[in-house]
Amino acid sequence: MDGDADGRLHVLDPAADLEAFLIAAAAPAWRAKAVRRWLVAGRAESFADMTDLPRDLRQRLESRYRIWTTTVAAHKTTEDGTEKLLLELADGQRIECVLLRDGARRTVCISSQVGCAMGCVFCASGIDGVVRNLTTGEILEQLLRLARLLPEGERLSHLVVMGMGEPLANLDRLLPALAVARDPDCLGISQRRITISTVGLPTAIDRLVEVDAGYNLAVSLHAADDELRTRLVPVNKAIGLDAILAAADRYWEASGRRLTFEYVLLRGVNDTPADATTLARRLAGRAALVNVIPYNTVAGMPWQEPSRQAIERFLGVLLEQGVNVQVRRRKGARIDAACGQLRRLAAARSPSPPSS
Ligand code: SAH
Repeated sequence: MDGDADGRLHVLDPAADLEAFLIAAAAPAWRAKAVRRWLVAGRAESFADMTDLPRDLRQRLESRYRIWTTTVAAHKTTEDGTEKLLLELADGQRIECVLLRDGARRTVCISSQVGCAMGCVFCASGIDGVVRNLTTGEILEQLLRLARLLPEGERLSHLVVMGMGEPLANLDRLLPALAVARDPDCLGISQRRITISTVGLPTAIDRLVEVDAGYNLAVSLHAADDELRTRLVPVNKAIGLDAILAAADRYWEASGRRLTFEYVLLRGVNDTPADATTLARRLAGRAALVNVIPYNTVAGMPWQEPSRQAIERFLGVLLEQGVNVQVRRRKGARIDAACGQLRRLAAARSPSPPSS
């Protein structure tokens, strides 16, 4: 558990144990529900806003807990309904998180770390490495802030942990935040609609099997042979596809839910029919969905998006081999809110015009 600089925990953090605090304060335990309702449905900004709580209780809550340590440094919106928040944390670090609209779906994509240590060569989030894990409170603040972008009465329906960072490297702080996301008294997002995306860390996947295999797991493959995968996803060198697929299989056995494998298509790198055949063979016999993600461009990186034709051919081969596939539709690319475009530093400014 982590408090902010003065040691206070976020009031919704399960480790804050609001119920116990209320008992000690001789307040009825049902006030906990009221506090949660104020924060989520009531969109209270502070304990002072919770006007039906006794004033002295509001003051005690204020001195014991916190609600916000982040500030919104930028808020971008795009015509496809995508909104991105750049949040500044108490220590000045910055993270991004996204709200996506698709039909009736209201999906949030949240970050789990400041930066990322995995170093995937095509992803903006890892360009400057990892600085630190986010606290449970900082993960919760992303959820609260994104939920408040919706008009009153609309609720978040889906949650993906696909923002900056490797979520399985920060499970201890992530899982309590996901518990709050699921709690019907808080955000009430069904666990079946929560997806954790991982680069593929077998030990952490096994831990998740032990703790709770009810979340959807998406494993980022990007290549089906070790030589190519290690070039694209450097942490693969020490792990290898066999170990990742074996861990994914154990997750599948425990969860009974279809696994998702993500595959970023990079032009001329991993997008040929032969690559698709290798992938199909590797996944044969698995109840899996391959989520193909055409590369989203990242300024300064040498990769290119695949041609339409290459995408079609790649999908065609997978389908022919009986693999379930889906193409992830690009959302929010204009504001750099699409997969792999989130970063911890504000995007470099465009070069200044010549002075003369
Ligand atoms: N660390 C987690 C979450 C990453 S973001 C993971 O590795 O899964 C979710 C997905 O976006 C991952 O599959 C990631 O590899 C992919 N991605 C990263 N950069 C991308 C880019 N520039 N274009 C498209 N997808 C990208």
